[in-house]
Amino acid sequence: MADFIDFCSNEEKIKVAIVGSGPAGFYTADNILKSTENCEIDIFEQFPCPFGLIRFGVAPDHEKTRGVWRAFSKTAQNKAVQYFGNIQVGTDISIDELLKNYDAAVIAIGAGKDRPLTLAGSNLPGVFGSASFVNWYNSHPESANLNPNLNTDSVVIIGAGNVAIDVARVLLKTPSEMSNTDLATHASKVIHSAPIQDIYLVARRSAAEAKFTNVELREMGQLEQAEPRVDAGSLPDIVEAEMSDRDRRIREKNIETLRDFSRRSPGEKPKRLHFIFCAQPLEIIGNNKVERVIFEHTKIENGKATGTGKKFDIECGAVIAATGYRSEPLPGAPFDDERGVIPNDSGRVATGLYVAGWVKRGPSGVIGTNKIDARETVDLMLKDIGVGKNKPGRAAINLLLSERGCRAVNYSAWNKIQQAEEDAAVGDAPRAKFVNVEDMMSILDNNSIPDSDV
Ligand SMILES: Cc1cc2nc3c(=O)[nH]c(=O)nc-3n(C[C@H](O)[C@H](O)[C@H](O)COP(=O)(O)OP(=O)(O)OC[C@H]3O[C@@H](n4cnc5c(N)ncnc54)[C@H](O)[C@@H]3O)c2cc1C
Repeated sequence: MADFIDFCSNEEKIKVAIVGSGPAGFYTADNILKSTENCEIDIFEQFPCPFGLIRFGVAPDHEKTRGVWRAFSKTAQNKAVQYFGNIQVGTDISIDELLKNYDAAVIAIGAGKDRPLTLAGSNLPGVFGSASFVNWYNSHPESANLNPNLNTDSVVIIGAGNVAIDVARVLLKTPSEMSNTDLATHASKVIHSAPIQDIYLVARRSAAEAKFTNVELREMGQLEQAEPRVDAGSLPDIVEAEMSDRDRRIREKNIETLRDFSRRSPGEKPKRLHFIFCAQPLEIIGNNKVERVIFEHTKIENGKATGTGKKFDIECGAVIAATGYRSEPLPGAPFDDERGVIPNDSGRVATGLYVAGWVKRGPSGVIGTNKIDARETVDLMLKDIGVGKNKPGRAAINLLLSERGCRAVNYSAWNKIQQAEEDAAVGDAPRAKFVNVEDMMSILDNNSIPDSDV
């Protein structure tokens, strides 16, 4: 009788596969659980480690921001949820197979790649996209071997958002300022022995349009060994463009902070962060490696930044382009190559197929933006599904993965890997991250408790 009841309730359960375990994936799971407990949610993640950009994007010295993983961890341990780490959808299992076995599949694979820099000279050694550069200092397995040559006294960062600020801050902080972080050891060695003295953060648009959040911007005025430099003449007196009151307040605050920076007299600090607004890169010049960047001043006309013809050079040994992210196509799902997202209508892609997060709307917003975004997708999805449709769900997927010899890492196995990282931490650091997948998996090889349900 008990078996019969279990069988019945399993049939009625809504079965959802989520692809990707970043904020969008976890907020999707969380939103489903808030709407119904009568569900089976399987989260597929290509790496053994969950949380996407919380682990590989958010700056290592912003551990508090990363703390959101604790809420995701609770979701992962809900009895309706199963984490399938180390399973890449599109390779280990197809979208088609997910659609056959679940009532719905939600793709939440983020936008982890650099938008290509289409600038003459951008292929020169010493030019990096911020995605690969940030991944490198955050121990992402695919960027561990980036090995940037930072043996230079000056670096150019192109872009005026928080990612540009993060990169500048990580390059400018001292070893003691970074001692309580999980900055990758390979990155710490390179960064802290680099002779960098000047970083130029160059934005195509005006200071009033910079996308920094004010807390991040103000932090640049509080560094131990580096000071911000801004030319007061580059700052507008008022924020002119049409925008909401909220946006206007944020921008006015940023101008206020930049004005404060501009009033500071050059102090004793050996390093400088120069903010340069209204300048667009024209060409990166170098003989076998980056030597300088040619910029052109811009002016804002009818909301557009246009070149003025006035040029200037900045000599530098490295260029980091923080000019945007894009998603990669996922086999079995449509893709809008121009926008770099999966085309969708409020989260719906096709029958049974949905999207959430950066792959749905592009790389914008903060972690919390993905919560509202996932809510929209989940509401639509649950309305479409109605009640569960008697799909086999997890049981069939476990069988499929086992037939293929795929080794899925469940959440308790991830906890073991995480514990090993915490145990390896030195001094005040919260953890010493594994840099490659083999090392993560070797923790499970040496453990007698089963790490996988497959
Ligand atoms: C450098 C940087 C710093 C940031 N700092 C902050 C900050 O301080 N505060 C803040 O609020 N926001 C910050 N953000 C923004 C925030 O990280 C994003 O809003 C958020 O991570 C987007 O969530 P997502 O789930 O869409 O994508 P992601 O976080 O990228 O998650 C996608 C997940 O899908 C997985 N995946 C990809 N392909 C597959 C596949 N084929 N099969 C299985 N799994 C797959 C990936 O491995 C990844 O785990 C930052 C972003 C960047 C780039």
